[in-house]
Amino acid sequence: MDDSCAVCADALEWVAYGPCGHREVCSTCVVRLRFVLEDSLCCICKTDCPSVFVTKAMGDYTKVILDFSVLPTEANEGNVGEYWYHEDTKAYFDDADHYKMIRAMCRLSCSVCDKAEDQVGQAAQAKRRSRFKSIDQLKGHLFHQHRLYMCNLCLEGRKVFICEQKLYTRAQLAQHTKTGDSEVDGSEIERSGFAGHPVCEFCKYPLYGDNELYTHMSREHYSCHICQSSILGSMIISGTMMI
Ligand SMILES: [Zn+2]
Ligand SMILES: [Zn+2]
Ligand SMILES: [Zn+2]
Ligand SMILES: [Zn+2]
Ligand SMILES: [Zn+2]
Ligand SMILES: [Zn+2]
Repeated sequence: MDDSCAVCADALEWVAYGPCGHREVCSTCVVRLRFVLEDSLCCICKTDCPSVFVTKAMGDYTKVILDFSVLPTEANEGNVGEYWYHEDTKAYFDDADHYKMIRAMCRLSCSVCDKAEDQVGQAAQAKRRSRFKSIDQLKGHLFHQHRLYMCNLCLEGRKVFICEQKLYTRAQLAQHTKTGDSEVDGSEIERSGFAGHPVCEFCKYPLYGDNELYTHMSREHYSCHICQSSILGSMIISGTMMI
């Protein structure tokens, strides 16, 4: 078993899997797909996973649950028996700290309003918790109240808390996508090599990063329809693409 995530290629520290039992994708990627994209299909076999189990990745020793009916049904947010349940992603955790980390990652709040409230004082802090019920609601608030946008590619691809996503004006977002160096993206050090989102040269579709571009290419444009030669292979040889 490979010890890197099949989606983001990071070292596999925590895995999340559904009843099909594919333990190749990290918990952050699974949570991002379920929460941000509302996609509950297994990334490997496309089985619909109504709930997932999150546990420490230990190669062949990773805890295996074959029968999902042993998990408590109709669970509420938080501790249930020996597990912790995250309602928004329908995920069961066997580790409290990892559960808290994921829950914080999915918290929806507006960083502009949060900052303003911080200056007023701590009083408002309690009521701002989970002000928004969905990402679309938060996006709507950002646009109507602040005329700001989140980068959808970063939202789907960056492993950061949703309230830490950078916020752009329309012009800044265009610059961010193209060259990655808008005012909001910060200094060269802060950008750490980010130079905009790569665009698939066949369908002009932008993707988060080189990994995603590679997956997209191999899925969508693996071979030429006419001569069946591998477009990807020739691109790697010609050095257009690094893997
Ligand atoms: Zn991953
Ligand atoms: Zn699967
Ligand atoms: Zn706001
Ligand atoms: Zn972005
Ligand atoms: Zn494409
Ligand atoms: Zn051809």
